[in-house]
Amino acid sequence: MKRKCVGVFLGVLVLGYFSALGCEEVDQAPEMADTPWDAVTDESDAEPDDFIGSSEFEVALDEDDVLDVPDTINAPTLEKMTVGESQAAYGRATFQVCVKYQPDYEDVGGGEDWWTSNAAQKARGIRIRITLTTNSLGDDLYYGYVSRDTGCTPTMWVSSTGRYNIRAYSQAKVSPTADNFIYVRKPTGSYSRYWKYLAQNVSPGMKTYTWVNNSKYSEDVVNIAAAAGYSVNKRYGGLSGESFHIYNARCEFDPNQGSCYEDDAGANLGLSTPDALFISPSGRERKFIIAHEVGHAVGAKRESPAAEPDIASWSDPTCGELGSSSHELTSKEYQSTAAKEGFAHFYAASVWNDSADTRCWFGYYKRVDHDLDGTPTNNPWVSCENGGDYLDDAGCAADGFGTEYDWMRFWWDIFTDVDISFGKIADVWDRANSHTWNDVPDPSDPNNNPYERIRNGFYQEVGGDSYLMGRFDVYANYNGVNR
Ligand SMILES: [Zn+2]
Repeated sequence: MKRKCVGVFLGVLVLGYFSALGCEEVDQAPEMADTPWDAVTDESDAEPDDFIGSSEFEVALDEDDVLDVPDTINAPTLEKMTVGESQAAYGRATFQVCVKYQPDYEDVGGGEDWWTSNAAQKARGIRIRITLTTNSLGDDLYYGYVSRDTGCTPTMWVSSTGRYNIRAYSQAKVSPTADNFIYVRKPTGSYSRYWKYLAQNVSPGMKTYTWVNNSKYSEDVVNIAAAAGYSVNKRYGGLSGESFHIYNARCEFDPNQGSCYEDDAGANLGLSTPDALFISPSGRERKFIIAHEVGHAVGAKRESPAAEPDIASWSDPTCGELGSSSHELTSKEYQSTAAKEGFAHFYAASVWNDSADTRCWFGYYKRVDHDLDGTPTNNPWVSCENGGDYLDDAGCAADGFGTEYDWMRFWWDIFTDVDISFGKIADVWDRANSHTWNDVPDPSDPNNNPYERIRNGFYQEVGGDSYLMGRFDVYANYNGVNR
């Protein structure tokens, strides 16, 4: 369903000007409803049990091949026919291919609203290649992106005697009304994407193929592609023409070798991409981690050039958690770190939860005492709605400091209780210019105080509207982010 924020805003005159800005995010309905083509899928064309060739994945095309492929059907030759030129009497058949991902995440069913199980999901905007095998030239019938709404190609008329190979790539074009691109890439040092045959030597028809996540080669490509594609399709924060290069590798800059977004990865690592995401082996098992890193990328890409500061080097692991890594949901951090990480958490929360329903659950992935009961919990599901001001509850409140947890809950309140769209929140983030923040804030200096920078960004976005500023301040105080 479409978010109804435009209508909501129209109903409130004081917010009327928001309606002109519209709502660029789309709350996608649960993916339980299959496309109509499932019913006619030919069982004999189902995905082979094992891999074709010596490895599930082969080295894909090089970087230069990626961007200039038309998103259209190639001109018909030989056994290809044009759309609308019927019919079976002429030995022609309809041909449509729909693609799904079958992910395998650990963090499903904890109270979130979308992807609550590892059911197959539409492969929105995935790039596929359909090649005619009964033609010695091996012509392409279709080499482009499927619909980001349906995961399907258009319906094509082709010769009923043609046979086809169908490949899927770890690449997608997503975001309604904008074109953003996802590339899941092999580990650092290679520019390759992954690809896989979905079917070989198949007859035309109305087909649905599923790309199943497989850990056999410790790759989990589908997990990364599915969650990242869904995230950027749904919450793209006003971005257009951006590429998200996601390396299936540990973060080289993280002392814990986890997952990260790095704004200058290209310069540091000699990659062909300016910035990059890195998803670790544990990260690719969790859709909240993947969305969190995408959230960093969306926030950073709103700034030009994409830039985010490093994690500030202060962390107090005595406030309700065990200090199992450099920063955690509940650790006491400089506001520069707390706000940046909290934004990425909020992003992930907004991807996997329905904004029309204030209830919100986040699948966290470290060991923390999130409920301050004195006992840390591994990978707890935490509410992004309930509670507020963890830092004070833990007895650690201090000016210039915050927690990721409190920032996540603050933004969720702004998003759902104040009804500010994600696109507008991304605008606020852009205005706050996080890449210019000092690691060590000075609460007495508005220019060196991340909270004041964000509040000022909000002020500019709402034109100083006193009602909305009042709401901002209420939630900032409630969640304790205003220190
Ligand atoms: Zn982060």
